[in-house]
Order: sequence, then structure tokens, then C-alpha cells
Amino acid sequence: MNEKPLHIAITGVAGFIGSHLAQSLLQDGHSVVGLDNFDPLYPRPLKEHNLSLIRDCGGEFCFIEGDVRSPEALDRMAADRAPDAVIHLAACADMLQAANDPVSYTDVNVSGTLQLLEFCVRHKVPGVVFASSCLVYGERTEVPFKETDPACTPRSLYAATKLAGEQLLHAYSKLHGLNTTCLRFFTVYGPRQRPTMAIHRFVELATEGKCIELHGHGKVARDFSYISDIVSGVRLALERMGGYQLYNLGYSEAFSLLELVETIRKVSGLTVNYRLRPEHPGDVNITYAGIDLARQRLGWSPKVGLQEGLTLFVRWYQESGRKIALASRPHMNS
Ligand code: NAD
Repeated sequence: MNEKPLHIAITGVAGFIGSHLAQSLLQDGHSVVGLDNFDPLYPRPLKEHNLSLIRDCGGEFCFIEGDVRSPEALDRMAADRAPDAVIHLAACADMLQAANDPVSYTDVNVSGTLQLLEFCVRHKVPGVVFASSCLVYGERTEVPFKETDPACTPRSLYAATKLAGEQLLHAYSKLHGLNTTCLRFFTVYGPRQRPTMAIHRFVELATEGKCIELHGHGKVARDFSYISDIVSGVRLALERMGGYQLYNLGYSEAFSLLELVETIRKVSGLTVNYRLRPEHPGDVNITYAGIDLARQRLGWSPKVGLQEGLTLFVRWYQESGRKIALASRPHMNS
């Protein structure tokens, strides 16, 4: 590594994207302090496993169990020294989770982001990278989505809270001179993907010979982004912070759910049974990233297409993902 090692704070470090980012930073000689509260969306042992993989990288890693809404928990991230930047991933990340308790869901995503920004001001942290979502674009027929397209008609509470987060980052950049970068991720997948997400769920159901429910009658289309591409996009965004910036990060190709299950069948050799169902409330018909801005300004370009990424995912699931999932749910039979 040529550049000076950085000290990076990651909220949501025990999750899917956070743990991959921590590994990547530690492997390159940076130090990481991470915060996570083991939100119950999926089993804690899966997140403990993610943390063990981070620790296996060696290097300087400090984990804090705590809630992003708590100033005291956040301050512990700066106990030894203030981080050079924060990657803010902690969130209620599942769209359907909002129905159970919309008030605390919104509190985590909006007040949590506000507390994080206040932490940065308190400790003079120069910059924040924020995990936003392609769902902020709402329902659009014109593709690919560009950062200059209007994003003011969210269809879900999830999207509304991510939009609010983006706006808070914009305001803090203007008010406090904080460098803030919002990254709109487009459906991220890969080893250790959140088990509530489509690819992970579909591969699990197909492995168990169960039927997959394809909402939106299978026609809903998504731009699927492989985790290593997202990690490289976040790393580039960290290196090129300055003022307020906003980028789409996606592969820039859309596949319907029917095409997705067909590709899963092809790469896994599994029999895939599915049933067509109506769309989920709050869902959008298509997401499709325009990535010219990220290419030009960050020098980013995604490398892993759907077929290759699914092959890697299925290999991981069969070699270790399924075992870890079963061990975290002792009531299940293999
Ligand atoms: P994840 O659920 O695996 O990770 C999120 C982590 O945040 C979890 O470990 C959780 O325990 C933690 N967390 C939740 N509430 C918290 C709180 N109050 N305090 C501290 N920690 C808390 O999800 P992920 O897929 O890794 O997503 C990471 C971020 O990226 C999220 O902000 C998500 O909204 C965003 N994002 C993800 C995708 C995707 O496709 N995975 C797409 C768009 C945006």
C-alpha cells in the first residue's frame, strides 16, 4: 500500500456489506472501528460469523456493540482517535421490516443518520459515505436511472428514510463543511448476503426443494450488483471525497425475476419451482443504474455480471453458507 493508512469507522459492520468492506480495508493495511447492534432482522450468529471473518484478516479492528442512535455508543468509535471517515451502513435495511414497527424503523434510519452526522461534527471527522438505495427513484419507466432524475416520490418507507438520509447529508455538508457522499446501491448480492434478500432466499428454497414466490408476477426487474464491485465503489468514493456527492452504484443491466431464477437453475443445476404472485406493496417495477457519473468521477467500473456472480454465490452457499445458516437455526433439519 502506497498511501497513508486510514482509520475508518463503519456502522453496521457486522452486516453483509459492512463486513466485506471491513475485510477489504484491513487487508490493505487500514484500521477499522465498527459499530453494530445485532438488529434482529436475521440471526445474530450470522453476524458473529461475519465479525470472526473480519478478525481473521488481522490488522487493527475494534468492535463496539451499540445502537447508532446512541451518542454514547457512537462516541466510543472515537475513544482512541477520531476516524478519518465514516461509512454509514447501519439501517433497518429490509423494505418489509417497516410494516412491523414503522416508527422505530424510521427512527433508526433517520435519527440514526442524524446522530451519526452529529458525531462527525463533534469529533471533527472529515467525511461520511452513506449507503442509500436505488429505491429512492420511486417508480420510473425511463431507464437507466440517472443521478439527475427526480427522486422525490418514494413508494416505501424504506425509500423515504433513505431520501431523508441523503438530504441530511446534504444539509450537513452545507452547514458544517462535512464531506458527504451518498451512494445509491442497486440490489447487492454475494457471499453472506442478507438472508432475507431474493438471491439468498431463492437459492435456499431451491436447495430445500421448496417453491419460490415470484412477486410482481416474475416481471419485476432488478439491477443486481456483486459485492466486490460495491466494495471497490465505496473505496473509491472514500478516496475522492469533497463537498456533497451522489452516485449510483449498480451493474447497469436489469434482469426480471423470471430471468434470475432461470440463471440460478442454470448455474446451480438445481430444480427451481416457482409460483407467480402479485407485487409487494411499495415495490417498484424496475431498477437500472446509469453509472456514467461513477465511471467519470470515481473511475469505477463494475466487473462481475449476473451469471458469474451467481456462480460465485451458489459456490459459497454450497460450500459454507448453508452450513452456517443451519447452525444459526438449530431447530432446522438439514
Ligand atoms: P445488513 O442488514 O446485512 O447490515 C446492516 C447492519 O446494520 C446489520 O448488521 C444490523 O445489525 C445493523 N444495524 C441495524 N440497525 C442498527 C442500529 N440501530 N444500530 C447499529 N447497527 C444497526 O444489510 P446490508 O445489505 O449489508 O446493507 C447495508 C446498508 O446498505 C444498509 O444501510 C442498506 O439499507 C444499504 N443498502 C443495501 C442494499 C443491498 O442490496 N444489500 C441496497 C441498497 C442499500
